[in-house]
Amino acid sequence: MVEEGADFLETIVRVFMLSSSMEIATKTVRGAVKSKRFREDERRMAELVEFTAKTLKTPQPVPFGSSIIDTKTGEVLLKALNAVAKEIDPSSHAEVRAIRLATKKLKSISLRGYTLYTTCEPCPMCMSTALWAGLDRVVYGATIEDASKHCRQIHIASREVAERSDMRCKVEGPLLRDECYALFTHPNMLRAFKSWSTRKSRASV
Ligand SMILES: [Zn+2]
Repeated sequence: MVEEGADFLETIVRVFMLSSSMEIATKTVRGAVKSKRFREDERRMAELVEFTAKTLKTPQPVPFGSSIIDTKTGEVLLKALNAVAKEIDPSSHAEVRAIRLATKKLKSISLRGYTLYTTCEPCPMCMSTALWAGLDRVVYGATIEDASKHCRQIHIASREVAERSDMRCKVEGPLLRDECYALFTHPNMLRAFKSWSTRKSRASV
């Protein structure tokens, strides 16, 4: 009986150890998948920061850049910049421009299967456009509050816009927030903000 009891206990311990190790293995796999995606997101955001930073040396610098990437393959479909001043159009935010260019390029109103990366959290107009386009994910860098220190913003979080819609779109961020916010605080950008119609005076910061 003692031996049988010992065997039974041993079996219980083995089953417990097996289930624990399976649980650990599952967690490790999940962690690896998550961290791989996180690393990919960081790499893509870093590329976007580099792309957007090129405008800092031009007469019309902008801190807002967006890219649209195939969610599965990671292939870059296109990148776009804020062109409100250039196009004399208050709706020419980087995200809206990227979405418009992407749908035209794909000849489809649906961007299902694509992810939008953007150096700043999308405003309600851009987030709504992302939802109407059916994007899988939106990944942002700096926050609306960060941008609000330099230019006027609409203070509704992009997650809230997504949550209050009937569409399914993951909103993730802030990612590389410091690197993205550095686009706003570059001396050339700080000078340029003074001429923006949406500028925010120091007193109101
Ligand atoms: Zn916007």
